[in-house]
Amino acid sequence: MQTRLEPRERSPLAAGRRASRSAVRLHGVTRCYPRRGAPPLLALDSLSLDVAPGEIVAVVGPSGAGKTTLLELVCGLQQPDAGEVRAEPAALMPQRDLLLPWLDALDNAALALRLAGRSRADARRLAASTLVALGLAGFEERRPRELSGGMRQRVAFARTLLSGRPVLCLDEPFGALDAITRSELRGWLDGVLQVEPRTVLLVTHDVEEAVVLADRLLVLSARPGRVLAELPVALPRPRSPTDPRLIVLREQALDSLR
Ligand code: ADP
Ligand code: MG
Repeated sequence: MQTRLEPRERSPLAAGRRASRSAVRLHGVTRCYPRRGAPPLLALDSLSLDVAPGEIVAVVGPSGAGKTTLLELVCGLQQPDAGEVRAEPAALMPQRDLLLPWLDALDNAALALRLAGRSRADARRLAASTLVALGLAGFEERRPRELSGGMRQRVAFARTLLSGRPVLCLDEPFGALDAITRSELRGWLDGVLQVEPRTVLLVTHDVEEAVVLADRLLVLSARPGRVLAELPVALPRPRSPTDPRLIVLREQALDSLR
């Protein structure tokens, strides 16, 4: 059963209540995909997870563990077969950037604003500062094919951010990029979230990325996805991947995956 929570309240009175409330809560969630001529495929098995407002949780696990399924459940794009999903309104940044090839960077970033009924001029004006914050000043009028992979990912991230939803579900946002671009983008993401905090579920294959960015790591088993370990990362930001404390955490996460 899917229950939508109200968007996060902003009043000081609400702040106290908020502390005890989850932005995302999954309880005993099971998801099975029906298959023709074969038994249903169990993708997630009795998964429970609580994410506090403003928390960044990285979900790591092998391919096929059900990570994308988990994000789609949180965004309400799928329903669980058993258990409960409760989430504040959530925006999905899918694995592939899915930018519209005929729109420039600014119109692509502003898409959610346009869909919410803003005029084109208004939407472009609002999106412009987000593109600047993500290092895309001067590229506003480029089409996706004229942008590098890292730039396209940043436009897709801007679009997700500009949806205005309190929960961001990022599905391997840096998966297809080279190592240098990945580490640069981590910096952008970290910086933007410091300025404009959101609740984030970050799916990644990369344990190093997870410990650099997240407040907590959720390590999933191979299919069906179960929680193998939860590791808090209580270290100040910005974090360096060479910090010995991060290396210890990374090894712990890798150990639970092995
Ligand atoms: P991950 O993102 O961790 O790689 P997914 O959530 O995409 O995992 O998929 C989990 C399992 O469910 C995989 O074995 C995948 O093949 C299967 N699966 C995903 N979506 C569907 C679907 N729509 N129909 C049938 N099987 C699916
Ligand atoms: Mg996936």
